[in-house]
Amino acid sequence: MAETRSTCCYCGVGCGVIIEHDHGHITGVRGDPDHPANFGRLCTKGSTLHLTATPATHAVRALYPELRTDRAASRARTDWDTALDHVADRFAAIIREHGPDAVAFYLSGQFLTEDYYVYNKLAKGLLGTNNLDTNSRLCMSSAVAGYKQTLGADAPPACYDDIPATHCLFISGSNTAFAHPIVYRRIEDARAANPAMKMIVVDPRRTDTAEQADLHLPLLPGTDIALYNAMLHVMLWEGWINDDYIAAHTEGFDALRKLVREYTPDMAAGICGLRKQDIETAAEWFATSPATLSMYCQGLNQSTHGTHNNAALINLHLATQQLGRPGAGPFSLTGQPNAMGGREVGGLANLISAHRDMANPAHRAEVAALWGVPSVPDKPGYSAVELFRAINDGKVKAVWIACTNPAQSMPDQSMIHAALQKAELVVVQEAFGHTETARYADVLLPATTWGEKTGTVTNSERRVTRVRSAVPAPGEARHDWQIGVDFARRLGKRLGDLCNGALAEKLFPYTHEEQVWMEHRESTRGRDLDITGLSYRMLEEQGPQQWPFPEGATQGKVRLYEDGVFPTKSGKAQFVATEHRPTAEEVNARFPIRLTTGRLRDQWHGMSRTGLTARLYAHEGEPLLHLNPSDIERRGMKDGELARVKSRRGDIVIKVLATETVRPGQAFLPMHWGANAMSGFGINTLTVPDFDPYSKQPELKHAAVQVEKYKASQHMVALGVPGDNALATLEALRPALASLPQGSLTLAGRDKPIVVLRAEADELSSQLLEQVDAALALDDDTQVLSYRDSRRDIGKRARLDGDKLAAVRLTGETKAAGWLQNMVVGEGSATEARKWLLAPLAEPPGGAQARGKVVCNCFDVSETDILAGFKGGESLEQVQGRLKCGTNCGSCIPELKRLAASCKG
Ligand code: SF4
Repeated sequence: MAETRSTCCYCGVGCGVIIEHDHGHITGVRGDPDHPANFGRLCTKGSTLHLTATPATHAVRALYPELRTDRAASRARTDWDTALDHVADRFAAIIREHGPDAVAFYLSGQFLTEDYYVYNKLAKGLLGTNNLDTNSRLCMSSAVAGYKQTLGADAPPACYDDIPATHCLFISGSNTAFAHPIVYRRIEDARAANPAMKMIVVDPRRTDTAEQADLHLPLLPGTDIALYNAMLHVMLWEGWINDDYIAAHTEGFDALRKLVREYTPDMAAGICGLRKQDIETAAEWFATSPATLSMYCQGLNQSTHGTHNNAALINLHLATQQLGRPGAGPFSLTGQPNAMGGREVGGLANLISAHRDMANPAHRAEVAALWGVPSVPDKPGYSAVELFRAINDGKVKAVWIACTNPAQSMPDQSMIHAALQKAELVVVQEAFGHTETARYADVLLPATTWGEKTGTVTNSERRVTRVRSAVPAPGEARHDWQIGVDFARRLGKRLGDLCNGALAEKLFPYTHEEQVWMEHRESTRGRDLDITGLSYRMLEEQGPQQWPFPEGATQGKVRLYEDGVFPTKSGKAQFVATEHRPTAEEVNARFPIRLTTGRLRDQWHGMSRTGLTARLYAHEGEPLLHLNPSDIERRGMKDGELARVKSRRGDIVIKVLATETVRPGQAFLPMHWGANAMSGFGINTLTVPDFDPYSKQPELKHAAVQVEKYKASQHMVALGVPGDNALATLEALRPALASLPQGSLTLAGRDKPIVVLRAEADELSSQLLEQVDAALALDDDTQVLSYRDSRRDIGKRARLDGDKLAAVRLTGETKAAGWLQNMVVGEGSATEARKWLLAPLAEPPGGAQARGKVVCNCFDVSETDILAGFKGGESLEQVQGRLKCGTNCGSCIPELKRLAASCKG
């Protein structure tokens, strides 16, 4: 048994992990007690990372290069030379004929900094195109543009240590309890240590984070600017702004002062759907608290005015001098593990290395000199949405997609799928071969992933951390940066003097990731993010460090702008006077529901990794539309029934979940469900591709939709697993899911995962049923219990493995599905229940209660058991003492508190 320190590969909190491994296999993971991001804690996602790296996951890993030269054919395994030579030939031919802007790279915030650096240099230095964008465009680019417009640089000025130092925490557009759980643990600790600390949460939904707030502002989606302007109006009226600071360290306040005059609390209350007095209270707490820290995420960013959402909030910090000191500042929480590192190397279509400005000729010349190329291109490349539109329009012929899944995550999925279909060449470089995007790959290049990779990442608080490999790459997978270097040299040979091909060997001399990082380090010299004082060795010896950390420094800068000097031309911060503007789509009689999107607690992004772990489905196990009970009733529906949700771009059919967490007239969909988990193209079929003019970030957070009851005459639930590889069964059932008008395909269970296929259709063909039965080993009549009533279209099949129920398929009558699933998962003896297995029982024989959803994933504690404790008069501490729920990772603590409060009420 050996141990390797590394970093969690999910969110931007950047928690340190210790990977336990044995003879090349990862066997466990725990939090690194010495890592300053988490001090040993991990959330439900981080603490189950090892379960995503078992040999069973090889069923969905990309292990060998694959190639198809004929679109109508399937890909076949090939070798690296053949695959990369093919791609280099095709890229070279396209560039010769159409120029370098006819090719593009679409990368990932999960890339390590070294990976990012190589591809950025490949596109901008070798090929001379800025057509390199990343999925960070979907999550952080408005935060980048907001910081740059106001403070002058893309640098979060605050840090995690500001959480215990603050007196007022202003969380906006972030369900921190779910999306950044370890940050939320710190918030809980800080509030416990300082009960006087105020917490304001601005969110259209009453999330678990909002539930714990001292003040929740459930504003209408997209009305943030009106709220912040009104708060500033109150601050001005009450004399709570800091005139001396504004005069000495800022510019542009007069225009803003004039603009917010009309944003009275009354006016904003009307726009935002808030109470006037709540806006006034928020303004008072924000401005008059000894230190106010704001934390914000996609609720601000994913908007057609996302940059100005950010700027309007930062205006408040500047006007009240709530920044540059402990406990104060505007702190953007990063969605991905290395979105920060990507920006540091210039890894977006409008950025160049080390936070330099693409429009600045001197900056471009610096980068060109650093790389030893004549020039770098000055025209911004296509940002994410623009890129896929350009592919769809035939302007971009070849796209190289790495470590991301646009066929799940981009808005307006119909357009994205059409674009991938039209592209002349799609190269997908991935660790996982089962993603929605991988299906479009003409060339699939297997990449290493968490536990195998080595390099660095930067977390939300500017902290650079080492990522280390614990086990060797499986199959023939290679590190992302290595694939880029190999490809660059091959392409250079073919391009010769065209672009900078003749320089390729010189441009890409790397044999080790540290050489790449050293070059990146040098590019930061004298810049705001200067890391010339850091080295791999120092990171090994002294652990993760914050930037800037220039040569000669003994430590990084904990927080920025303490001296009131900003990286702008004048050295002063800039106020941005910005008006409230409507969302891209306003609701109307035809599309009356405001749809918002967000995260579940236990899933991450497109589920290509978390979707491999059955227990991470236990909290919310299938795609659900969260809808207020009044809206469900108004449509003649009941909780759990199906609805068709339609936007201007397409529609999906999905089960509704009645919940008071969304206001009437609003709906919420978790962002995670794509075509692998549900019929059609997933939830982003509905979302809006319109984007912010500055950040180019699309408005994934809001769409106008209609919701109506959907009725299908046939229902099916099929569940179980033959053998012990649920992931292989999942793959076997994907074609069945794809053929259904409505259905979902998920995992369930814990130690023995099973597959669950749910479907609704007007007809379930015998071919489909045969496919399902074959995948679940329910196809041998001599081995299964079966029941068929053709007149009522009811069919049931069950397979026992010894005395255990192993698989079930129910059609026409599915009310027993819940307890049958529990029985398959529970692996208890089915002998007693055998005669009831095919009966129309909604409850299990003997009257045992359904478990309900699992609230505590660490100790597998269900909502039913927790509520029974509270209803029986137990306190939270007593319930926790008895059931252990919330005593390990703590991710369920907000929910436990909410359940406790609901029982008191
Ligand atoms: Fe990973 Fe959870 Fe930490 Fe995010 S909060 S880095 S998902 S362990």
